[in-house]
Amino acid sequence: MLSLFLALFCAHASVTDDLSRAPKSFAFQNSKAVYIDILEAHYQLEYDITGKVASVDATLRFQTDEAGYPMLDFVQNASEVLLNGLATQASELSTPDRATKMRVIAQEISSGLHTLKIKLPLISLLEWSNGGVHSAFWTSDLSERSFIEKYIPTNLEYDRYGMSFDILFKNSQVKQAVYANGDIQFLTDYHVRIQFPPHFNASALFFHTTPETVMRESRLSFTSMDGRVIPVRIYLKPSMLTNAGAQLKKLEGMTLKILAELEADYGPFPHPSVTIYNAGSGGMEYHGATMTSESALGHELIHSYFARGMMPANGNAGWIDEAIASWRDNGYPRGGAFSGNANMAGRAGYTRFTDRQAYSFGAKFMASLDNHLKDQGGLRPMLKRVIENHLFSPFFTEDFVSWIEGFSRTNLMPIFERHVYAPKKGEKSTPMTPMPHVHHQKMSLEELQNYL
Ligand SMILES: [Zn+2]
Repeated sequence: MLSLFLALFCAHASVTDDLSRAPKSFAFQNSKAVYIDILEAHYQLEYDITGKVASVDATLRFQTDEAGYPMLDFVQNASEVLLNGLATQASELSTPDRATKMRVIAQEISSGLHTLKIKLPLISLLEWSNGGVHSAFWTSDLSERSFIEKYIPTNLEYDRYGMSFDILFKNSQVKQAVYANGDIQFLTDYHVRIQFPPHFNASALFFHTTPETVMRESRLSFTSMDGRVIPVRIYLKPSMLTNAGAQLKKLEGMTLKILAELEADYGPFPHPSVTIYNAGSGGMEYHGATMTSESALGHELIHSYFARGMMPANGNAGWIDEAIASWRDNGYPRGGAFSGNANMAGRAGYTRFTDRQAYSFGAKFMASLDNHLKDQGGLRPMLKRVIENHLFSPFFTEDFVSWIEGFSRTNLMPIFERHVYAPKKGEKSTPMTPMPHVHHQKMSLEELQNYL
């Protein structure tokens, strides 16, 4: 109970500046559509094993600092919406630049504290087999509305809040395994509670459940340079492999080696645990977790520092972590002369997803930046200081530039303006072909379904 209290207290304490990273509110129905700051959220997930239906019941406590119609996001239509106890509705609306859609609540509110209750069906990435349920909240940062809003009501990436799950497996005969990057507690065989850290946002959370017999796992630990013994859980689906045992052993060795390499470069691993699901082609990163192919393991684990440690506040900041991770994939080359422009940081202001040019052009840009900073020891020591000073604080590209400028005492904005923002009027842009990247291949829904 003490830990729950502390978690809630921290959730409240840590989010006070989240609205400073929210996009601008905009005109809506003679008033405004306003961004909110979720303070805490509880999600009850119910899986009825015999009825083969699943639902989400979310309770969100939030605040706004301006009056208007509150916005948040969830993709599935809600079956019930209650704002401060009164029934209302949530419809989709487009941002003024048409870059994305949000959900807006059909009830105007004053600034201050409010409570939303939202019920919706859970239908995505769900399979009823092996006597139980296979369900996952896997995400992508390469397309619109593909973070946890695909499954549960949440907010944009600028907003951090304490999330808890109560998961009920009803009418079930088999025990479920639960894989998540939070604190997992089995209250009974059929009731599981998960508390996630208070700095989590819509792209942080990893959740996967299957009947207990489906996966094979290995548990080990990694002793961090700061003395913490960090639990590591690696799992895979033996039915999709020829030699699961050997593969797990191999991944154990690789994981420990990569974590040691990353700590040497960027300091103590920023998360309390490591969860790795070895599946698919490429991978996706979460806070201290990943679903990944063997070859993408290093790429996905460095994302626990950059993407899910140094957290982008919006789609226009998402290119930085892909550029850094891809620069590492390439062996951290120190670039020489560099030309060209790819507008990865200056797209429409409400953009939510990452520009794919980050993998190729962005990686070259980081190599060039490393060269630019060679007299100060290069880019990696600067990135280490970013992690030390700005962990879990959602950032814009402009913040990143000013951090590196501060550490290096160098004026860098002109380089960023030339290469990663929209070209100025009269200047030509060099269009780059967005490259499909080996480490973030987009899997189809059918492919993802196979790995459930
Ligand atoms: Zn990546």
